[in-house]
Amino acid sequence: MKPASFDYFAASTVDDAAEALAAAGGDGKIIAGGQSLMPMINFRLVKPTVLIDINRIPGLDRIELRGARLKIGATVRHYMTATNSLIEQHVPILRDAMHHVAHMTVRNRGTFCGSVCHADPAAEMPMMTLLLDGTIIASSIRGEREIPAPEFFVGSLMNSLEPDEFVTAVEIDTLPSDTGWGFEEFSKRQGDFALACVATTMRVVDGVACDVRFGMMGVGETPLRLVEIQELVEGNKLSDEVLDRVGETLSSVLTPNTDIHASADYRRHLSGALARRALRDAWTRAETRGG
Ligand code: FAD
Repeated sequence: MKPASFDYFAASTVDDAAEALAAAGGDGKIIAGGQSLMPMINFRLVKPTVLIDINRIPGLDRIELRGARLKIGATVRHYMTATNSLIEQHVPILRDAMHHVAHMTVRNRGTFCGSVCHADPAAEMPMMTLLLDGTIIASSIRGEREIPAPEFFVGSLMNSLEPDEFVTAVEIDTLPSDTGWGFEEFSKRQGDFALACVATTMRVVDGVACDVRFGMMGVGETPLRLVEIQELVEGNKLSDEVLDRVGETLSSVLTPNTDIHASADYRRHLSGALARRALRDAWTRAETRGG
């Protein structure tokens, strides 16, 4: 398919981009890596009148440590996130997650923030942003605003940005060095979107789990942070009994879709199996790193 015609504007500053987006009156689209946007334009699923390219704006291609948070700029590509030493040191679970993202060609162009904005419920970066208590930093001609991740992901491929806002960075938590993590994803082929995925972190203090985080993707309309599972594991030793209760709880709270890739029942079954593995990995790593 060929796209409908559109204008192209290469912004050289954040203000430039904000003004162009405001001038487009809701019909403009930001282009970052273009890996999701261009196929949608080619299929005419979206028909922007103008593409506003943020790739030439200086300073957005950085990952910076800010106290206990990492700031990931809007033009940081997937390969940069996967190989960055700050991420390796402070959020190794994110490094592991990145290895499941697409293929090298897509990773060379696709951006962390672009994926967050695209809000695919089976994509790794939205789930990791939710798991790591992320904040989305949005800019417009009205200035800057911070959006907590739970308020950002409002539906499948839907975010809570205003039409004239765009994202300049996403901030995420760093994790204490004694944190263990587990990341388990199942897809039909390496690099495909997940049928189901679990990401979890915890510390083990005095023989019990604490600071438990538990996220999932591929099993709902948005990425999920499952407080029920966190509360179930928190304060306990990770016994078979706890893991059984995790499986039972997931079966009752998850409402995945049936589609051409998998049935809802299969996704529910996968979720239980992946959760067991991921929680065990997190526990083992936390015991090793805390000891
Ligand atoms: P773009 O395509 O440029 O934009 C996507 C959308 O977000 C557009 O609506 C755009 O307007 C908006 N947008 C982008 N940046 C901003 C911004 N800063 N502010 C406001 N709006 C913005 N992803 C995964 O997570 N896991 C996978 O396994 C995976 N597999 C893939 C396989 C293939 C073959 C392809 C083509 C893509 C795959 N992807 C996967 C998607 C990939 O990660 C994309 O790069 C990502 O979803 C979008 O990032 P982008 O920078 O390319 O955004």
